[in-house]
Amino acid sequence: MEIPSRSLATEAVHAGREDLAALGLHAAPLDLSTTYPSYDSRAEAARIDEFAATGARLQGPPVYARLDNPTVARFEQGLARLEGTESAVAFASGMAALSAVLLVRVSMGLRHVVAVRPLYGCSDHLLDTGLLGTEVTWTDPAGVADAIRPDTGLVMVETPANPTLAELNLRAVAHSCGEVPLLADNTFATPVLQRPAAEGARLVLHSATKYLGGHGDVMGGVVACDEEFARKLRQIRFATGGVLHPLAGYLLLRGLATLPVRVRAQSATAAELATRLAADPRVAKVHYPKIGGAMVAFEVHGDPHEVTAGVRLITPAVSLGSVDTLIQHPGSISHRIVDPVDRFSGGIGDKLLRMSVGLEDVDDLWADLDAALAGSATTPPDGERRAPAPAGR
Ligand SMILES: *Cc1c(COP(=O)(O)O)cnc(C)c1O
Repeated sequence: MEIPSRSLATEAVHAGREDLAALGLHAAPLDLSTTYPSYDSRAEAARIDEFAATGARLQGPPVYARLDNPTVARFEQGLARLEGTESAVAFASGMAALSAVLLVRVSMGLRHVVAVRPLYGCSDHLLDTGLLGTEVTWTDPAGVADAIRPDTGLVMVETPANPTLAELNLRAVAHSCGEVPLLADNTFATPVLQRPAAEGARLVLHSATKYLGGHGDVMGGVVACDEEFARKLRQIRFATGGVLHPLAGYLLLRGLATLPVRVRAQSATAAELATRLAADPRVAKVHYPKIGGAMVAFEVHGDPHEVTAGVRLITPAVSLGSVDTLIQHPGSISHRIVDPVDRFSGGIGDKLLRMSVGLEDVDDLWADLDAALAGSATTPPDGERRAPAPAGR
């Protein structure tokens, strides 16, 4: 397929929908079929053989919904265009997407994974426990090349990472990987701020539950990659069943249309809140990535649990990427499943809070944060009492 060069904003609204006008449609059709009629079993046998052998998308109707779905395929096309990859394969959740990647490599006898902490808590858990038969070596970005073995099937990184927003140089890590595929979790940055494939990542993972959906009402995952790897992912998806529901595919396609506008607006507010937090004496440290984004992490001098208990406009909840602002305590929730020693060494301290900034007015958000911070103890570690920040700033 010839890919015209159009800007991200234009692709976000049109990719995956180019055929609609010719079909006499405006909104993408939602196909909820689980099965598809065919009077020609011989032809179906040939198509199933072809899929089993290659993993290429079927021409014509899907046969059965675990093989393919036209609405989900529109979302996959849209996301691939935004990430600048040949293909994308969607799954029921971000964790189903990561599981499929690991199973592709394990099924090829490449069960060793090199990974850089911090990662999203459940990704860390999946690798650390070796639940899917993988074995992990944790390292820092500079140690990736030395950690690679003959049976290494994957190098996995997140940048900016969940929850500390630590950044790494994707191009440098991709270089260290040599022939081993680099998987970059791009959930936090989204293709609006960063396109890992252009930096050398072979696999770009998203928890579509977050910014791609954008409204906190759809769960999904997706891997953007070359068509060769996508074929293996489709075969694993067919065999293991972690498919994305068509309604989720519909909502995610709709979410892509506003992704650039949402991410830019939410990032501008997040940058302003990061500045105000950094100037606040009740805050010990602010983590805000160089590339920007709508996530802010910060450490408080007082009790972080009092901050999540004290917000009224902001929702105290895990997850991120929605149009409304959420705050949570990673040590208690998103990264609770990570062993405490590994959690602390990954920079996820007990004083750390993670905030996903939404589309609300910046001053309303600040007023809520300011009140919640006032409710947490204001005594700095040296025992010296400092004046609270002026209200409304
Ligand atoms: C949430 C998240 C995941 C897991 O995605 P689910 O859709 O919850 O399965 C993976 N990576 C990152 C960075 C996340 O924030």
